[in-house]
Amino acid sequence: MSSNETLQAVRGMNDILPDEAGLWLWFEEVVRDWLHSYGYRNIRMPLVEPTALFKRAIGEVTDIVEKEMYSFDDALNGDHLTLRPEGTASCVRAVLQHNLLYNAPQRLYYSGQMFRHERPQKGRYRQFHQFGVEALGFAGPDIDAEQILMCARLWKKLGLRDVTLQLNTLGDADSRHRHRAKLITYFEQHAGLLDAEAQRRLHSNPLRILDSKNPAMQDLIVAAPKLMDELEDDALKHFDEVRAILKRHDVPYEINPRLVRGLDYYNRTVFEWVTTRLGAQGTICAGGRYDGLVEQIGGKAAPATGFAMGVERLLALLQDDGMALPKAEVDVYVVHQGELASQLASRAAEQLRDGDLRVVLHCGGGSFKSQMKKADSSGARVAVVIGEDEAQANEVSVKPMQGGEQVRVAVRELNAIVNNLIK
Ligand code: ATP
Ligand code: MG
Repeated sequence: MSSNETLQAVRGMNDILPDEAGLWLWFEEVVRDWLHSYGYRNIRMPLVEPTALFKRAIGEVTDIVEKEMYSFDDALNGDHLTLRPEGTASCVRAVLQHNLLYNAPQRLYYSGQMFRHERPQKGRYRQFHQFGVEALGFAGPDIDAEQILMCARLWKKLGLRDVTLQLNTLGDADSRHRHRAKLITYFEQHAGLLDAEAQRRLHSNPLRILDSKNPAMQDLIVAAPKLMDELEDDALKHFDEVRAILKRHDVPYEINPRLVRGLDYYNRTVFEWVTTRLGAQGTICAGGRYDGLVEQIGGKAAPATGFAMGVERLLALLQDDGMALPKAEVDVYVVHQGELASQLASRAAEQLRDGDLRVVLHCGGGSFKSQMKKADSSGARVAVVIGEDEAQANEVSVKPMQGGEQVRVAVRELNAIVNNLIK
């Protein structure tokens, strides 16, 4: 590469530029308030974990572990490491490592980058962001339903249209084993109709064949043995209770027996919130119960349920809905000319910030006219103008940017005047 070639970000990993970051900040604040309103507390895990964690938690025969992980060896000590592809495994690892579950169920959330080596396209990136929610130590259907109700509330808060809930149950270990055996027998009987990927998964993970999007296999899949027919009474009761709570709260859903989720750790309730407005990448939020994971990672068995939402997809949906970017990030722009004026300007700016105002102090000189242009494009509601004349008198001029009289006031009155104007 020649030394003056422009360097680019890694394919599938996006910059979020300031104009767009405003929407992200607004979104993150809404989501945090919503999480806190359900008693969830924030937890922050490293972006890098031992590769073994994801192999053990997510499962060896899954898309993520088979082909999507960014794994590497630590050049200094040879440790096998992976950029986290999802947050649940790390969250459970952290909870166990720090004994948080000891006599205390936990409602936790996290957010941040996830990394998966996928083919980049609209709504599918190699670095993307999730908000993830995990409730650990809760066994009942009440928490499953609460998490779904939570989501419904957030969509309402955000004003999202056309988002529907798909629901399924994966039952417990015994029924899954029975179902698995029946599936293998069934697919073996129709081996000639399986594509290469299905052939490969037939004995390692036959459930995933149900997830196939291959049109040639759809008839075969539709007629496959149903897990629903194998469910134990407890799992059925759990599912019925989740459905009853959703019904009491008027949350509509569609039962989708083919919803099996891409990760091995789920059991019982699984759900996805989907929209038809984002093309093939229509799932904005997905989750469910994962009672076996805590033990699988080495802890004392504890039930758990959680979900994660894809921030890029949610923001795309908001933008599709015509959501206007929140503006006005600056209250005051301070323009000044002359030595004494510039000294007063920086003092005045600090004084305004003492009063919690958002202030941009013009830097870099230039004529009053060019400085006023900058004030205009900054979106500030008020300009404070200081020339040598004002500075000599320890005064400043205050100009409302949306029109109105420019007034000259003593510096000590500045905050009150500005506050009055932007109220
Ligand atoms: P998909 O079926 O779209 O590949 P998934 O089942 O792999 O999704 P999860 O692991 O359940 O996804 O992650 C939860 C959410 O994170 C998804 O519903 C989606 O909104 C988002 N997400 C997953 N992978 C990506 C990606 N590569 N780029 C952007 N968002 C993603
Ligand atoms: Mg995926």
